[in-house]
Amino acid sequence: MQAKTPDSRLLNRLKSIVGSKGWCASDSAGKYFADPRGHFRGNASIVLLPSSTQQVSQVVAACNEAQVGIIPFGGGTGGVAGHMEISGSLPVVLSLERMNAIRSVSIDDETVVAEAGCILASIQKIAEQHGRRFGLSLASEGSCTIGGNLASNAGGIQVLRYGNCRDLCLGIEAVMPDGSVLNDLKPLRKNNTGFDLRHLLIGSEGTLGIITASALKLSPLPEDSVTVMCVVPAPGSALKLLHKIRNKLGETVTAFELMSGLGVTLATKYFEALRNPFDGPFEWCVVAEIEGHKGIQWSLEEVLEQELEQGNIVDAVFAESRSQSEALWNLRELAYEYNQKEGAICSSDTSVPVSQIEKFIELTITAIRYLDDGLRANCYGHIGDGNIHVNIFPPQDVSKQAYIQMHPGIQETTRMIINETTHQCGGSISAEHGIGRLRISELQRYADKTKLAVMQTIKTAIDPNGIMNPGAVFEAHGQPTQILSASSEG
Ligand SMILES: Cc1cc2nc3c(=O)[nH]c(=O)nc-3n(C[C@H](O)[C@H](O)[C@H](O)COP(=O)(O)OP(=O)(O)OC[C@H]3O[C@@H](n4cnc5c(N)ncnc54)[C@H](O)[C@@H]3O)c2cc1C
Repeated sequence: MQAKTPDSRLLNRLKSIVGSKGWCASDSAGKYFADPRGHFRGNASIVLLPSSTQQVSQVVAACNEAQVGIIPFGGGTGGVAGHMEISGSLPVVLSLERMNAIRSVSIDDETVVAEAGCILASIQKIAEQHGRRFGLSLASEGSCTIGGNLASNAGGIQVLRYGNCRDLCLGIEAVMPDGSVLNDLKPLRKNNTGFDLRHLLIGSEGTLGIITASALKLSPLPEDSVTVMCVVPAPGSALKLLHKIRNKLGETVTAFELMSGLGVTLATKYFEALRNPFDGPFEWCVVAEIEGHKGIQWSLEEVLEQELEQGNIVDAVFAESRSQSEALWNLRELAYEYNQKEGAICSSDTSVPVSQIEKFIELTITAIRYLDDGLRANCYGHIGDGNIHVNIFPPQDVSKQAYIQMHPGIQETTRMIINETTHQCGGSISAEHGIGRLRISELQRYADKTKLAVMQTIKTAIDPNGIMNPGAVFEAHGQPTQILSASSEG
């Protein structure tokens, strides 16, 4: 079933549901059509900004009746074009931004109930004001929304300790494709009453319904925290270090990120305020956040001294203030920007079993260098949970455009090398960013066939008119998925 474009009668009906402040004509709605990677421009017949679950329900029911497509929109920070129509048709974009209330906070239940349009950073702040932590942290946290985080099952730097967004959600409220409302916001940690629809909606990228609110898990705030950066001889040494710290200090590692020397060089090249905290260049390092009881730094120092003696780390620096901690973390968190500025021709969101990380990195770099030994690779990311991002750059002093012109098809070739190596290492082509409109052909190629068939059966059963985020995750009629996939990198 192909979703239709709304006619003027439906547009008027939608406008009257959301009221005069609740919509925006498409010619003045530029921010809803922007791609954070700068590759695409979205489009829509209208952008709707409902202010309540009831309005969302009425909008969805009206669109379903007319078989008109709806694209849910959170903060627009997704990297796989899930929040934007790029094939030319004109659906309705439905932004949740006006639904940004914190409905309740309960210290006894250790939960916050937040509407879908709440910015992630504002939920973290509310939690801190109550002496608690909301354990999701992404570099985009100042603009992404909890609805978008849940819809894409976001990961980020604290998965090691707090899990993915899925693990932080106890209950959900959502509008289903026929307009009915799923009320499942109970903050229960145990609830085995039939299928858990929360987990079907989380990670479904807006293809099964619109998340309007969620009950989220909070954790106690640690007494003390330490930021440390260590130079390591190889990615495998980073993993040994992680295991050593966890063996000695228990579940105190909140974040543990691998960085390449190239990544740090690019960070300092494009961001003047940043500097390499070590005396000279190096190949690999980790930046980590260890949190726990008062004085945890002393326990950590003991572990690091032993690791230094055994040659598993080469050097280490501790942040001595909050601003030093932020400076170390910026070297990692600005990767999205500096990779783009350096002209990445290909980027990946790979996960492999932790035991396969070193093999994956070695095989990938060898294969890329075999293609052209001038190509440069920045491999970095959430090494503790197996999620490694690979960005490939043209040889030094060659621009992205010139290199692509000289080597047509290079983006697809490098992408296939990474995908095939991922597959060989038993991994996933999308660890945390999802499928959106860019990775459909790869999903079709690498996913288990039974899984794909069951996904399609569920989609057809729940959304028979195909109105929810048409063209995302599932193959759409006539959509040139191969071409989209090839042009997605950077
Ligand atoms: C600098 C930067 C760093 C990033 N780092 C990370 C990272 O470390 N880890 C990570 O996982 N991601 C990361 N991302 C990607 C992105 O921030 C996440 O995917 C985020 O969860 C998207 O949230 P959003 O509100 O911007 O959603 P959007 O981009 O607006 O939408 C994402 C998807 O969810 C759907 N959607 C949005 N809201 C709803 C809703 N209420 N109900 C149903 N469907 C909905 C959209 O249709 C779309 O398919 C990063 C992005 C940037 C720009």
